[in-house]
Amino acid sequence: SLVPGRIFEINAAPMPGGGAVVVLHDVTSVEAAEKSRRDFIANVSHELRTPLTSISGYVETLLEDERPSPETTREFLAIILKNSNRMNRLTEDLLALASVESPDYVLHAQPIRASSLLDDAIESLAGMVVDSGIEIESGGAPDNVVMADPDGMTQVFGNLIENAMKYGKSGGRIRVCAKMAGREVEFTVQDFGPGIASEHLGRIFERFYRVDKARSRESGGTGLGLAIVKHIVQAHGGHVWAESELGHGAAFHFTLPVVPREIPVGDTEEDEP
Ligand code: ADP
Repeated sequence: SLVPGRIFEINAAPMPGGGAVVVLHDVTSVEAAEKSRRDFIANVSHELRTPLTSISGYVETLLEDERPSPETTREFLAIILKNSNRMNRLTEDLLALASVESPDYVLHAQPIRASSLLDDAIESLAGMVVDSGIEIESGGAPDNVVMADPDGMTQVFGNLIENAMKYGKSGGRIRVCAKMAGREVEFTVQDFGPGIASEHLGRIFERFYRVDKARSRESGGTGLGLAIVKHIVQAHGGHVWAESELGHGAAFHFTLPVVPREIPVGDTEEDEP
């Protein structure tokens, strides 16, 4: 190939006096986008087909049996319900992802103190956390103001804290905090569970990427949560990443740009002649 690793489309046209013009178009990124679209559709189809196959299997078995016992009926109905819940979660996450990935996604951002953002997030998730017996510990946050979309932030904190609860169970507690980092506020959701091996750290934000598929499914995961988080944070002008050492928990960090403090009138005196 002309350049290793790149894909070219060749267009050739004959010249009137003989010879030909050859035009090369580098279509590497178009091909990559096309492949990613195909992979995504294959993944979605597979993820929907698995619970659907299970549902139709159990319904058929129930229908074949003329007088199924009440115990069997209840047991099968519970499995059918579990699988339809899974399809529900998947379609909800797919819709959420489509919305945040869309070029039309608009943030309804408003100025809010980092500390209030954190308190609101913890408060809105309190119900989910109380039931789990896990303790959320707030590690403090600065009073600086960031621009944030409240719904978007509920989704970001919700997904990160839900993951910390699901995967960090053995740790029993989650730490949520924020600090200033240059001109940004850096938020952290940390758990003390088994953590994530370094080779997976860079990939867990990809759609459908899961370290342990069976474990993720068992705990109701769709593999889309972190992809949704990434898009929302990036739409805010921030970035998100994970740090972990196997056996020592995982920490998810994301940043939001700080709104510069308005200079109070009294502070500008020294600039006056
Ligand atoms: P899922 O629905 O599977 O949780 P996510 O996109 O939220 O999908 O996460 C992707 C994968 O990253 C998970 O399947 C899991 O393997 C890994 N992961 C996410 N958060 C944690 C965590 N706090 N501790 C360990 N592994 C995690």
